[in-house]
Amino acid sequence: MTLAIDGPAGSGKSTVARRLAEKLNCLYLDSGAMYRTVTLHSIRTGVDWANVPELIRLVKSCKINFAENGKIALLDGEDVSDAIRTPEINSVVSDVSKIPELRQEIVKQQRRIGADISIVAEGRDVTTVVFPNADYKFFLTASVEARARRRFAELQAKGIDATLNGIQEEICDRDTKDCSREHSPLRTAEDAIVVNTTDMTIDQVVDFVLGRIRGL
Ligand code: C5P
Repeated sequence: MTLAIDGPAGSGKSTVARRLAEKLNCLYLDSGAMYRTVTLHSIRTGVDWANVPELIRLVKSCKINFAENGKIALLDGEDVSDAIRTPEINSVVSDVSKIPELRQEIVKQQRRIGADISIVAEGRDVTTVVFPNADYKFFLTASVEARARRRFAELQAKGIDATLNGIQEEICDRDTKDCSREHSPLRTAEDAIVVNTTDMTIDQVVDFVLGRIRGL
């Protein structure tokens, strides 16, 4: 079974997808973590992402995978889960992920991960490009204010310094870049069920998705 969930930053898709993967006993694929890891790797190694052949060589020469069913992102065996979720990565990941050749390579890896296994995948193009034949497709959305508030609370809980306004600006900037890029922009698949999570708790979203899958 393939369950694919797309949506903008802060729409709740990561938490929801992780819970669904646990409940349904599926592999969880955080596709954004892969773009984040490539971004981190290029910054660390000084590879200019405008140099596409060099970037692709870098991606092909490293191993990006996951442990603990998607909770931990590994770059050549190193746990980079925190390092890929910094303001620095947030501010440039959309510039890296818009490169078509890079997307082609990452999509290939994602399809390989999802081959012959039940999977819950989430991201920006998993319903439209990576798994267009997914058994179930959902598009999660929420107001930008609600999404910024969620991110702010997450950062506060981790003790990371941030302002609500700053987060909202960063989310809007990423939304604009992710929705307007030429290749695989974030869009709602025609056959996806749209869920506006603005006034919903995570549990409510999970129950809603499970209900639809079970045909309730
Ligand atoms: O989901 P997350 O916010 O971690 O994704 C980080 C960034 O990675 C997104 O803003 C987007 O630029 C990129 N991304 C993508 N396609 C995906 C998942 C993420 O382009 N399927």
